[in-house]
Amino acid sequence: MSEVELRYAGATDVGLVRDHNEDAWLASPPVFVVADGMGGHHGGDVASGIVVEEFARLAGTPGPLGAAEVSATLESCQRRILEYAAAHGAAGPGQWYAGTTVAAAVLVEDQASPRWLLVNLGDSRIYRLHDDQLVQVSVDHSVVQELLDAGLISEAEAETHPDRHVITRALGGPELPPADVWELPVGETGRLLLCSDGVSGLVSAAELARLLAASPDPAAAAEGIVAAALAAGGTDNATAVVIDVVGWPT
Ligand code: MG
Repeated sequence: MSEVELRYAGATDVGLVRDHNEDAWLASPPVFVVADGMGGHHGGDVASGIVVEEFARLAGTPGPLGAAEVSATLESCQRRILEYAAAHGAAGPGQWYAGTTVAAAVLVEDQASPRWLLVNLGDSRIYRLHDDQLVQVSVDHSVVQELLDAGLISEAEAETHPDRHVITRALGGPELPPADVWELPVGETGRLLLCSDGVSGLVSAAELARLLAASPDPAAAAEGIVAAALAAGGTDNATAVVIDVVGWPT
């Protein structure tokens, strides 16, 4: 029985350039996910779809959820994506590959201190808006982030770098890489935004903050953010999930 009251919504759009949408999202309390799939021959949308299925299964698990259950879910995703890729690789010629990012928020309600478990693999992003300040919680697993961390390029150079879409961790590779995990008390977190790089690569953080602050309704906020990605060129699939905690036990 959940005592934390949530309001939430998601929106996605194929964009203006791609011919199908490889992003997928889930909003099934206490579990929220954005996954950005990649791979030819619909491998990408199968991979991101597997993530949504497995995290929906997690949402339906009785009992308290925690880091161990999330880890097991990532392992299930990885196993199913590799099984899919192996089955299709054996079935025909060509390089079959199916991979996906995962950005997830899982509400953990043990004792009287509800908190968000935030999980990232890849370059989909988790932001939080608190007191109108937008903070990026997740750190991209990308070549460009590594160059930034090493001080080899500037933030401005990162935005136009030719390798800005090359990610260094994802589901679907030969090994399951470690996911980054954060835990934040719900009272200090504020509004959460999960989004694919088709949003964060096209809409500035300042504009995301403005759109989130301007739309108290999560559906209007998510739709406004996806619309902004299309207005900025829509060069990739664009997905946003917005979650508000409107009350919790104290
Ligand atoms: Mg993308």
